[in-house]
Amino acid sequence: MAFGWGKRSKPGDNALASSLENEKNKSEIILNAIADGAVLVDSRGVIQAFNPAASKITGWPASEAIGLDHHSVLTLTNEKGEPYADVDNPLTQILKDHKEIKNNTAMIKTRSNTSAALSLILSPLVTKDNIFIGAVGVFRDVTAERGEEKQRADFISTASHEMRTPVAAIEGYLALAMNDKVSHIDSKAREYLEKAHISTQHLGQLFQDLLTAAKSEDGRLTSHPVVVEVGGFIEELASDMRFAAEKKGLQMEYVIGSQSSNILDAKAEQRVLRPFYYVLVDPDRIREVMTNLFDNAVKYTEAGKITLGLTGDDNVVQIFVRDSGEGIPAEDIPHLFQKFYRVDSSITRTVGGTGLGLFICRKIVELYQGRIWVESTPGQGSTFYINLPRISSEAAMQMKSKESNQIVNPSLPTTL
Ligand code: ADP
Repeated sequence: MAFGWGKRSKPGDNALASSLENEKNKSEIILNAIADGAVLVDSRGVIQAFNPAASKITGWPASEAIGLDHHSVLTLTNEKGEPYADVDNPLTQILKDHKEIKNNTAMIKTRSNTSAALSLILSPLVTKDNIFIGAVGVFRDVTAERGEEKQRADFISTASHEMRTPVAAIEGYLALAMNDKVSHIDSKAREYLEKAHISTQHLGQLFQDLLTAAKSEDGRLTSHPVVVEVGGFIEELASDMRFAAEKKGLQMEYVIGSQSSNILDAKAEQRVLRPFYYVLVDPDRIREVMTNLFDNAVKYTEAGKITLGLTGDDNVVQIFVRDSGEGIPAEDIPHLFQKFYRVDSSITRTVGGTGLGLFICRKIVELYQGRIWVESTPGQGSTFYINLPRISSEAAMQMKSKESNQIVNPSLPTTL
């Protein structure tokens, strides 16, 4: 195999025509001309080809980069500029797992020691007999785009923060105006004020969601992870959620492993024996996720039941929220966890929402190295799943005793 991306061919008109007859030259022309960096590494991680755009982004001429280990040339770091450990380094990962990787958070340290934000796609190269022979990386300098994104996020976050205060004041005064002990209003005025109150609450929720979404995008979402036993945590949540479901005439069920208990029957609940599922998360954040999934299940279900479930294995704790509602069309599912995405259906047109809830859920779950996804059959219902890394009971006990030492030992700083 010969790799010549580093050498720029200089075809004249005739030369171009003749070179186009040759497939290899065609690929070379494309690789030399495109603005995206392209690199080919062999299965040992040694660079075998490097196009001019890759040289421009990294500062390494192809003649020097080719033949070197990828670590020396493509010094990748995380978004904070910290060098990747080998397990997190996308290039090391593809050489180990042989699976495609898309990464939009990595940065690169160039040869002159400046940093550039990258959008990177790595694809494995395999022979017909499925033998891994190397990987191709295509990357683009997205420093300017990320800077603009940050400015937009900063604007949204400042604006929504500033707007929450007057909205809270309006909501407060409307509540006072509707309070019999404070004001006297006729029934027509009450009807208008109630509508204004509901709209103000939606507006307040929108600003709150915008603020949380902006924070989650630039890593400012506060999180104080502690050891949480998910079974007990969900049971507590489930009893609060029961009222919202009942109000809409929906049944509610809590399923642990293959066992189920009607959460209205507290005794049945106590009889169920279940393993302890420990995770390391901020309970307030996971409560936000669960509440949002549950509120959606209620909002988008006209009749039937909502099931909260908990299961897992040695490594993973799985929580799910299942409903018997309208379901989600297959073509909408890939977009559901993006910002502002709402399915266009008769129910979403009548039921209020911001389209930010699932985006925030995904950001929170990813904060704890978890995964969130949905499976749905239109007309039959949807199940939203969350997988979180499980920690063993022994590790959980050790962490818990450390946590309680920090609280009782006054010499150690505490977070207020
Ligand atoms: P919203 O504020 O619109 O509820 P979300 O981000 O929470 O925003 O949800 C995005 C969209 O996903 C919703 O508008 C709805 O179309 C769809 N969706 C979410 N949960 C469900 C569900 N349980 N059943 C059917 N559709 C759902």
